[in-house]
Amino acid sequence: MKPLICQSCGLPFSEKMRGTNRDQSKNSDYCLGCFKNGEYTDHHITIQDMKKRLLDMARHHDEMSIEEAHQVIQILPDLKRWKMTHIL
Ligand SMILES: [Zn+2]
Repeated sequence: MKPLICQSCGLPFSEKMRGTNRDQSKNSDYCLGCFKNGEYTDHHITIQDMKKRLLDMARHHDEMSIEEAHQVIQILPDLKRWKMTHIL
């Protein structure tokens, strides 16, 4: 099985951490941190906010290095959630 990459935050997630649709089925496009009950958990976040969030994460947590955060940031514009804002 290929690893799931969240189409909002760009981070890999396990099957257990899949987001949920309105009917409580699993959504393999988004992680539970970004998508819950058929909605984004944070509606107002922009791609800039997401970049900042990733850098903050890298700064405060050992699981991710700044380098890894930058790699994720590079793929953000190609993710489903941000593709539209990228065009605008
Ligand atoms: Zn996510």
